[in-house]
Amino acid sequence: MQTLEHLEISAKIETIRVSALHALAYCPRLFYLEEVEELYTQDAAVFAGRRLHTELEKQEDEEWDELFLTSEELGLRGRVDALRTRDGQTIPYEHKRGRCHRDKNKQPQAWESDKLQILAYACLLESALGISIKEGRIRYHADNVLIHIALDDAGRELVRDAIQKARILRQSMHRPPVTENERLCARCSLAPVCLPEEARLAHDCEWQPIRLFPEDDNRQIIHILEPGTAVGRTGEQIKITRRNQPVEIFPARNVGQLVLHSFSQISTQALHFCTDQNIGVHFISGGGRYIGSFDNRQGSIQRRIRQYAALSNTDTCLELARKLVVCRAQGQRKFLMRATRGKTQLSDRLTKGIAQMKAVLKQVPQAKSLDSLLGFEGNLAALYFGALPELIAADVANELKFDGRNKRPPKDRFNALLGFGYAMLLKDIMNSILTVGLEPALGFYHQPRTQAPPLALDLIEIFRVPLVDMVVMGSINRGQWDVKADFEIRGKQVWLSEVGRRKFVEIYEKRKQESWKHPVTGYSLTYRRLMELEVRLLEKEWMGEGGLFGQLIVR
Ligand code: SF4
Repeated sequence: MQTLEHLEISAKIETIRVSALHALAYCPRLFYLEEVEELYTQDAAVFAGRRLHTELEKQEDEEWDELFLTSEELGLRGRVDALRTRDGQTIPYEHKRGRCHRDKNKQPQAWESDKLQILAYACLLESALGISIKEGRIRYHADNVLIHIALDDAGRELVRDAIQKARILRQSMHRPPVTENERLCARCSLAPVCLPEEARLAHDCEWQPIRLFPEDDNRQIIHILEPGTAVGRTGEQIKITRRNQPVEIFPARNVGQLVLHSFSQISTQALHFCTDQNIGVHFISGGGRYIGSFDNRQGSIQRRIRQYAALSNTDTCLELARKLVVCRAQGQRKFLMRATRGKTQLSDRLTKGIAQMKAVLKQVPQAKSLDSLLGFEGNLAALYFGALPELIAADVANELKFDGRNKRPPKDRFNALLGFGYAMLLKDIMNSILTVGLEPALGFYHQPRTQAPPLALDLIEIFRVPLVDMVVMGSINRGQWDVKADFEIRGKQVWLSEVGRRKFVEIYEKRKQESWKHPVTGYSLTYRRLMELEVRLLEKEWMGEGGLFGQLIVR
């Protein structure tokens, strides 16, 4: 086990990337997210920067002299964009795609973070090569400006101070607060994981957040339903070979998840590749049960330590569980109430169910323990599933009607559809938990009784109604199911056939692409994105930026 002393020593000898100092000068929280929590996103600006470098390499072959350097003495390492010799002096160059800063007289200046970066490269060159550097230069390509930055004593001190600050921050367990300069966030590549606007809203309920979280994730979710399919890698692409079908090739950047149903094969090379490319890999049994996910998390240990600390506190768990039970039951009740709109004749079962749920819901905030909360939740679920059959249209085939919830195994077609839907949802929530980097095995409400991870079981409660119950009820009432071809009956057990599963996957994935306006943040996201947002908002509950989790309630 590492002692604090060991950590201090290793922090002293471990060098810091110059680009990390750039992040530090831009925003200490950005440095922390990247360097300590190891979070990176590849947004358009980062890609554009890389393209610029590639183009420059092509155009300026003769003067290009890219150099990787390390100085243990200084504690820095980095890649200098370009080195040129002018009048006998070696000068490091940094290329920036964007515009320069303008002072109050509209004169071009370097941005502070860019200035620190070029000074750090200059110090690194001096230390690593033992040469004297007098200045560094930054070219801003958007307005074709070249800025000269002198390396003097003040510049050297600036670099030393930044290295010291970075070392201290690297050992801290606390994520720094969001920057006060909101304009920096709009251009920050990590805004979708930092969620600065949501942090501001958590501290100021009058704050009107703008959406810095992408509305949708356009990457494909590939379901492999046919047994005997082989998934492999070819170059930078995923290769899928289904029996008696032409080989399919998908560029990795277009793939978000691979879902292997039944007995398909995936090669080790493909698994490694999926890990590198942040492609989720999930396994579903032939009967439609969620089996597990390939855990491709890297780093993020600080996040999990904070999660352990927070969820070891029974009061925190109870508070979060109360929010969850209210969120789910309110959604269920609102769904039942939708069916009453515009109707004059309502069944007793439905009206009573709605009224009794309201009464039980009032008691939930008073639950003093997880056990008493489980009691309330059980009552609410019984009332909901008791009233739910009333939402089935009169002209639906009798085979698709049901009388209450049953599972493991489902005994009617309606419950077979619900069961498969909840398995799909569990898979998607797991994908979001792994993307965010939390520990799925540690929840705040569900206990580890089955193989399903407790945190995923907690979080699916928020999405059961909008993503599964409504989808199943809607598709049944629209007559989308064939009672024979879409189901398999074995004794008293009912499953979806392969055709039925394929149909469900299509309806479900389509639903996930629909947008929903978040009732608290006020912006719209697809359900697919909302799942990830909700996991991130949960994490904020123990980061001093809480209050937004569990507010997604069906209207
Ligand atoms: S989004 Fe804003 S607060 Fe968050 S890391 Fe980026 S600049 Fe800092």
